[in-house]
This record gives sequence, C-alpha cells and structure tokens, in this order.
Amino acid sequence: MKSYGLFIDGQWVPASDKKEYKVFNPATGEQVGQVGDASEQDVKKGIDAAYQAFPAWSTTTAWERAGILKRVSELIMDHQDELSEIMTSEQGKPLAEAKGEVKNAANSVEWSGEEAKRIYGETIPASSRKKRIWVQRQPVGVAAAITPWNFPASMITRKVAPALAAGCTVVLKPAQQTPLTACRLMELFHEAGVPNGVINLVTGTDAAMIGDVLLADERVGKISFTGSTHVGKLLMRKAADTVKKISLELGGHAPFIIFPDADLDRASDQVLESKFRNAGQTCICTNRVYVHESVAESFTEKLAQKTKKLKMGNGMDEGVQVGPLINSEAADKVAEQVRDAVNKGARIAAGGSRRSEAEGKAHYFEPTVLTDTTDEMVIQQEETFGPVVPIQTFKTEEEAIQKANRSRYGLAAYFYTRDLSRAIQVAEKLEYGIVGVNDGVPSTVQAPFGGLKESGLGREGGKYGVEEYLETKFISFALDQ
Ligand code: ADP
Repeated sequence: MKSYGLFIDGQWVPASDKKEYKVFNPATGEQVGQVGDASEQDVKKGIDAAYQAFPAWSTTTAWERAGILKRVSELIMDHQDELSEIMTSEQGKPLAEAKGEVKNAANSVEWSGEEAKRIYGETIPASSRKKRIWVQRQPVGVAAAITPWNFPASMITRKVAPALAAGCTVVLKPAQQTPLTACRLMELFHEAGVPNGVINLVTGTDAAMIGDVLLADERVGKISFTGSTHVGKLLMRKAADTVKKISLELGGHAPFIIFPDADLDRASDQVLESKFRNAGQTCICTNRVYVHESVAESFTEKLAQKTKKLKMGNGMDEGVQVGPLINSEAADKVAEQVRDAVNKGARIAAGGSRRSEAEGKAHYFEPTVLTDTTDEMVIQQEETFGPVVPIQTFKTEEEAIQKANRSRYGLAAYFYTRDLSRAIQVAEKLEYGIVGVNDGVPSTVQAPFGGLKESGLGREGGKYGVEEYLETKFISFALDQ
C-alpha cells in the first residue's frame, strides 16, 4: 500500500488539516494507496514554493536544465516496471500499455531537455543606425498543470518537462483517481536533482477549489490543462481575470475514414489499435468510422472478428488487451450511448454488453462494434471514452469529409487510402490538429499534439510544447554615438 503526502518545496508534507483520501484499483475495487487531500492553504504553499524557486531555476543554463532532465528520463526508465505496475493498479490499463506509456514519458522528458538548448532569440535590423533590436525568449514564470487520469505519467511529463526546460517552476495537480504515479514521478524528479520548489505536487479531492486557487493567484503565469471540454471552458473563463497564458487539451471525437482502395486488413488493425487502446479512454481514440459502401461489409466483418478476439480483464493479467473502465459513471455513459444507438436502429456486430466484477466494484464494457449508425445517435455526436466503434457508410469523398468535419471537436482524424493525391488533399481538408494517413497511432513526443475548435488551444510535444512556456521580449537599444 502506497502512502504519500503533498510534495512541496522538495519535502513530503501532510495536508495542513491532515486530510487524506484513498486510491482504488478499478479492476478489483481494492484500495491501493492513500495520498494527501490538499486544502486552499496547501495550494498556496505550493505556489509560494514555486514562486520562490523561480529566480534561481530560470537563470540556470540550458545545459544544466537539460542535464537534469536527461537524468530524470534515465531514472524513469530505470523504474519502468515499478511505475507501470503502480499505473495499472490505479488506472486499469494493461501492463504492456503502461510500460509503453512510461517509455513515452521518459522520451518526452529527454526531448524537452534537449530543446532547452535551442530556445533561441533573434536580432532584427533596426530602422535607425543608432538602434539595435533584440528579441529574447524568457520563461513565463510559475506554471500550473492540471492533468487527467487516462495517462497518469505521460500527461504529467508532457507539461512538466517542457515547463522545466523553458525555466519555469511548476505546481502540479494530477487527477484525483491516479495520484500514485504522480507521487512516484515526483520522487524521481527530486532524485535526479530538480531543486527544491521547482516542482510541487498538490493532490486532492476538491478539484474546483484547487483550480480556483491556482487561477486566482497573480504569481501563476500559465495554466496548462488536459481534460474535458466542459472544465476547460470553465478554466478559460477564470484565467481571464489575471490574463494568464493558457493551453488546453480537451475532448475529441475522432473520425476514421476507410476509402474503397484501402488495405482492409491493415485498416482494421489500425482502427482496432486506435479504438481499444486504454479501453477507448483516450481523447484521440477513433470515435466514428466512415467506410465506403463498396467495402463496408468486408471491412466490418474483419473488424468484428478481430474485436471479438480481444481479451478483456484485469490489466495485470498476462495477455489482457482491454482493461476495466475507470469507474461506474464511465461504464454508465458507454452503456447509455450503446442503448441510444440500438434504440435508433444500430446493429451490434461484436460485444455490446456491460459487465460488473469484483462484487460490483469493477466496471467493464465489452469491445463493441456497431453498424447502421446514423448522425442522430448520441454516439455520432459526443465523445464516448469507451470501447465502442460505430460504423457508417458513405458514397463520395466529399460526403466523407463533410461528415468527418461535422463536429465541434477537432483533435485527431484518420483515414486509409493508397491514392497519393487523395491522401494529400483529404489530409489538408480535415479540420483537425492531428491527421493520421494510414496511421491510427500517430502520437509521438517530438510532434505537436493539440486540437482545433473546442478540442483546445496550444500544442504539446517537441519544440511546440516548449514554446507554450515562453514569453517573447523585445529589447530595443538606443546607442549614444
Ligand atoms: P475527466 O472527465 O476526464 O475526469 P475532467 O475535466 O473532469 O475530465 O478532469 C481533468 C482534470 O481536471 C482532473 O485533474 C480533475 O480533477 C480536474 N478538474 C475537474 N474539475 C475541475 C475544476 N472545476 N477546476 C479545476 N480542475 C478541475
């Protein structure tokens, strides 16, 4: 059983009123740990520590920051097995996926550290012989990071690592459901030599209060949030009061188009991977498939067969590919979307049922394929965040693009074709921040990840991720002679 306090100014401290809360395993319902439950005062202490640490950290050299982040990355990989087990025990994803995520987290830290060395300025030709113009990049100050439960390690590193690389200090609030991975990561950042106060962790159950304290404080220069569109909008409104810089990674509703010339074996493999990874609980998961009517039957058959073979169960067990959903509300939402679709005429080609285990404490939904779906169904309009693929057919390329773009979300879109001209043109027409051409799993640490429309603001990953933590300063020199 893991037990942690709050990590403030390089120390583990109990929450000010000694409150704690319990963390449970979604596959068994058993308690796996407990962590501090921060009060308003604790969040302020985290900001105090980050604010005090900022002058020294922001004036370290890029080489010093890169060296420390390289060490963090190595320590994460040295503890890959341990971190993966912690993650699976609190989040439920299959252990092999957890290991992949830990590797991704280590890569993101290493890449961001290397980028620190390439935070360049500029000189611009002046309009007068007696002037010189410099443009300099500087860290925004204290950055607040609020992260979700679906990727308990990589959602943290993709915010914290670029922030530290830029010279910012951080107050992190991880998701209530998955704080243990965050706590262990804090220890590794500390062990690698991140100075006291540069990174602070406030875990807690009152997310709205923690968010409000972070947003109201003028010393916090930046907020980076990953989570629901609903909460993202709330934070954006509140950030306006102190005009904070803001990055938002919000919901998605990814379309996957299968053109008639697609390699159907590979396309169905990619849909499978994109959809059922993390039991469908990712913001870039395929959420709707549009398949050309001439290949619909064959594609659906292949996808349904492969879906039926997926092994569902406790992510710790050998060979499991689909774990439990995070909680009963998540399972209710998926079941409701399937019920709505079936009531409106959808047919079930695979799966379709909800399953409770561990005396009703673990919530599963079978990997599911629905056919004959229509735009009126909720599942075609809203993010599912669960293991269900609804399939619709289309006749023309124009119709497919129009259906794919008809969404308030704009995070990720995918399509399969062998036609090069079509590949280029469709990729350009899709109103999405990330487009996978014959690629259902495009996400990688060096590329920009982020969405259009109500899917968010800003980008994470690569040099773009570091940009989000930098201000641009124009320095004008007037010369005496
Ligand atoms: P999800 O539905 O995936 O849990 P949320 O948007 O509710 O998505 O949660 C993402 C993160 O935002 C979590 O860390 C959660 O605790 C936090 N959060 C939820 N509500 C608020 C809020 N009102 N203000 C600040 N943070 C919040």
